[in-house]
Amino acid sequence: MEPRRLVVQKFGGTSVATAEGRRAMVERVRERLGEGRQVVVVVSAMGRSGDPYATDTLIALARREGPVDARNLDLLMACGETIAAVVAVGALARGGIKANALTGAQAGIITDARHGDARVLRVEPGAILHNLDDGVVPVVTGFQGVSEAGEVTTLGRGGSDTTAAALGAALAAELVEIFTDVDGIKTADPRIVPDARTLDTVTYEEVFQMAHQGAKVVHPRAVELAMRAGVPLRVRDARSSSPGTLIARAPAPEREWQRYADIATGVTQRAPVTLFRVAAGPGEEVRVFRPVADAGISVDLVNISPEVKSFTVLQEEADTVERVLKEHGFDPEVVRDCAKVSIVGSGVHGRPGVVAAMAEALNEAGIAVLSSADSHITVSFLVPLSQMEDAVRALHRKFGLAGRAAVLPDVEGGPA
Ligand code: ADP
Ligand code: ASP
Ligand code: MG
Repeated sequence: MEPRRLVVQKFGGTSVATAEGRRAMVERVRERLGEGRQVVVVVSAMGRSGDPYATDTLIALARREGPVDARNLDLLMACGETIAAVVAVGALARGGIKANALTGAQAGIITDARHGDARVLRVEPGAILHNLDDGVVPVVTGFQGVSEAGEVTTLGRGGSDTTAAALGAALAAELVEIFTDVDGIKTADPRIVPDARTLDTVTYEEVFQMAHQGAKVVHPRAVELAMRAGVPLRVRDARSSSPGTLIARAPAPEREWQRYADIATGVTQRAPVTLFRVAAGPGEEVRVFRPVADAGISVDLVNISPEVKSFTVLQEEADTVERVLKEHGFDPEVVRDCAKVSIVGSGVHGRPGVVAAMAEALNEAGIAVLSSADSHITVSFLVPLSQMEDAVRALHRKFGLAGRAAVLPDVEGGPA
């Protein structure tokens, strides 16, 4: 049997919401069909916070009368993508393309039962394949699946990307295209750094780390799934024919980046987070960290010295952590409103001077460093939230990421 020539195209929150976005979507689908390829479309909910059918709006609606448990919240959140899928089908039909909307359950996205943050266990693509064989474009609701018990689940915020990657893997797609409102993966969030450069190519690992460290442009689990299956991802702007950013295994044979720029691929930020400093002697690590873990809270930026154990948590977890630590007899210092800024890049690993250059950039900008951590291809500094944007811009400049003749960092061991 001939292998399928198939592309998964995921359209983000802004695509289906406007007439211009829908026209662009139809155009992108038509292009791929015109190449003789099959297309599976994935959509996320229409619009951004405040728009009638956006995910944030649905969450606020659910909570109007008080807290709602994760199982029921999932049922409502899943509606956003269902609405978008049917609207997308309408737009495609108007463009002369036959399409059919499928919910996560109908598309065979089977997940575990972790409501609000479910993992895809497997894909049973029968219905998708039937549609394709009939010459119909399946439009699958992103961000949702169904548990073995038949409950509707969601995959975590930003999880439509994960649906696209899971389908790409299950259907052995040639490519998964993630269409969004920026023209690719940039060297920093363009909302903070307007002159951030769009990367041509980037490795799965770099994007995974960037996403993990707060770059919301693509979900880290989507990158992980695509990497495991060896399916390339491309992040593009639906409104243009620009190729965007290719995420794949090998770096491009020739990166055109300048001298020191290839130390770092991008700068990211994650906020707000809260820093805890706990006075606890040698051997008391377990007494500090076990109760926090038992509360289901994950810690980050962990620093352990003989007298002090420090770590960060997402700010929304800070009250719980403070209570739990006090219950266990500690009197933690709690520093709210912090931000984690990180440098990510394959060139960071084993390269001397990266930490020094980062510290220098922040010092020069008068920004206090509260904590730091590094692992493999990432170095992170904790700074006050009020200085986060300045910190991101300072690091972006220091590492020459805009691609201009910027002040290059004084880093030893860089390429000659
Ligand atoms: P979608 O609804 O299409 O999934 P998202 O809001 O999830 O859109 O992701 C796109 C947004 O990600 C952009 O508008 C941009 O502000 C943000 N972003 C953060 N970091 C980056 C980055 N490094 N490169 C590109 N976009 C980024
Ligand atoms: N609509 C969902 C969210 O806002 C999923 C997504 O956008 O990918 O998180
Ligand atoms: Mg997204």
